[in-house]
Amino acid sequence: MTSGTGTPNQGPCSASPDLTGAHLLGALTPKARLVIEGHAACYALGALNPGETTAYASHLQRCAYCRSIVAYFGAVVDSLPAAVRPVPASPAVKARLLAAVRNDLLTR
Ligand SMILES: [Zn+2]
Repeated sequence: MTSGTGTPNQGPCSASPDLTGAHLLGALTPKARLVIEGHAACYALGALNPGETTAYASHLQRCAYCRSIVAYFGAVVDSLPAAVRPVPASPAVKARLLAAVRNDLLTR
């Protein structure tokens, strides 16, 4: 599948549901529901490409089902940083990061 920008899109966010109308939970097959919920999760994670994000944001205006899924996944995404234990970076990682930032600033 290709995204709206022509960039190949692979992985868990590669399946895109039909976004032309509102989804009705009772009318969905289990497979369609998985695709819809996966797409909502990718949107909540910010993992869709810009074209997909714009199309899905437009779809959300007319689909209460997808809005409810995005709200659910949004709460999960917001809690992710609290779910991991912070690990201090090694001095070598810090030095490489600062060198990369310095290099980036010098090449602008
Ligand atoms: Zn929907």
